[in-house]
Order: sequence, then C-alpha cells, then structure tokens
Amino acid sequence: MTQPALDLVIAALEKIRESERAPRASKTALERLQAGVLAAVSIIATADSGECSAAQGQQVEGGPNKANLLAAVRERVSDCTKCEHLACSRTQTVFGVGNPNADLMFIGEAPGADEDAQGEPFVGRAGQLLTRILKAMNFEREDVYIANILKCRPDMPIGGFGNRPPTPTEMQTCRPYLVEQIDIIQPSVLVALGAVAVEGLLGTRAAMRELRGRWHTYNSIPLMITYHPAYLLRNQAPSEKRKVWEDMLQVMERLERPISERQRNYFL
Ligand code: SF4
Repeated sequence: MTQPALDLVIAALEKIRESERAPRASKTALERLQAGVLAAVSIIATADSGECSAAQGQQVEGGPNKANLLAAVRERVSDCTKCEHLACSRTQTVFGVGNPNADLMFIGEAPGADEDAQGEPFVGRAGQLLTRILKAMNFEREDVYIANILKCRPDMPIGGFGNRPPTPTEMQTCRPYLVEQIDIIQPSVLVALGAVAVEGLLGTRAAMRELRGRWHTYNSIPLMITYHPAYLLRNQAPSEKRKVWEDMLQVMERLERPISERQRNYFL
C-alpha cells in the first residue's frame, strides 16, 4: 500500500473513531481485504528485494495465499442463488477439492447425488474411478485440484432417477466461479472430463472422438480433453480404457513426470 493510500485509510479510521460508530464488515469482505493485503505485501517484498516483476502473481513466501483466495470464492459460492431453482433444490454447493498449488487440475461437469450429499466433487462411482486413474499416474487426490463447471447439482423432477446434465444457461451462469478457480490456481495442465465440461469451459460442442487425445488451450494453459470416467463405467472395453490412459500419458509427459515401462503398457 502506498503512503497516500495509507494516509487516506488512517484519516477514514480516525473519522470513524470520532463518530463512535463501530466499523462493520462482512466475513467475505474481510477475506477479500485480507487477500488484497497479502497480495500487496508480496508485491512490496518483491520490489524491495530488487526482483523483476515477472515474479508477481506467483506464490512467494509470505505472498498471496491461494488457499485464502479460493476460500473467499468458496464463501461467495456457498451463498450463491443465481440459479434460483438449483439453490432451492441443492443440499449444498460443491466447490472443489485438492491442492490450491496444484500443477494439474481436472474439470468435470456438475455434482451428482453423491457429490450433493457429501459436498465434494467426484466421490461417487465415477469419482472413485478418477481416483484410481490418478493413482495409476502416481498422484494422490490431494496432489491435484478437482472442480466442476457447475457448483450445484442439476435438479431432477420429483420422482426422477439419476442425474441430468447441466443446461447451457446453467453452465454460463456458474462458469465465472470456475474461471476464478483456474485464475487463482494457475495449473500447468488442465484436463476436461467429457463433452459437457468442454462445452462449459470452451463453449465448443463437438464429438469427443474429435476432441480427445490432443492438446487444446484455455487462456494459454495446455488443456487435454478426455472421456468422463462415467463413460468408462458404461464402456468397459480395454480399448476405451486405453484411450483415456493414452491421454493421461500425454499429461504426465507434459508435466515431466517419470513414466515406467509398466505404466506405458497399461491396457495394451
Ligand atoms: S449453479 Fe453456480 S451460479 Fe447457479 S446457483 Fe449454483 S453456484 Fe450459483
């Protein structure tokens, strides 16, 4: 914070003290203020050390804390009622889970019944398969970050069974939260799971066979598109598992992760 800005803050605080009114701020406002102060401290520390400004935006010791920044977004999401019908029907919002400093971020479509009940993405059968895929890549769930395009479970008609995909309008409405998550985490690689996630993220509608298996970009971040784990639960053929695995091998190569011969040959 610069000296003139500090002077303004001090003058405003003195005015409040004179008026004997207790200052009030919401929890969200305080978190945003805290995140802003942390970012300012980081920039000042960088400038003081004579480092070039390219380091700004990266997490340095004492710098902006990605966990705090994500917590502030999570707080806003938990109160969100932009889609009235979903805010009424959800048990809770499902924000995202994992390492705020992750190199690798997975994006799915929307919470299902299990996720709505537990408040965590990818915990149902498809989620358990994603966890197994991660283990095959030598990752734990805690190493990566996992989020959905939609933070609320798409509602179902009374007596309806299963889950429904989100509508384009619902995805468009919720997308800004995902954009904020990606902006904060700044992963080295993104993976979009399934056609709905691709549509929500890129606005592109195309067959998965045309999209998967090659690199795309989202905001200059390399993006790999592959099948949703739910697809593999429906199509158990080794050839389909191999396609997803080949996509994950490309991700591991991009992240410069060691790949054993055994890993290279899974599902062959
Ligand atoms: S789906 Fe997203 S935008 Fe809609 S109410 Fe839930 S959190 Fe808000």
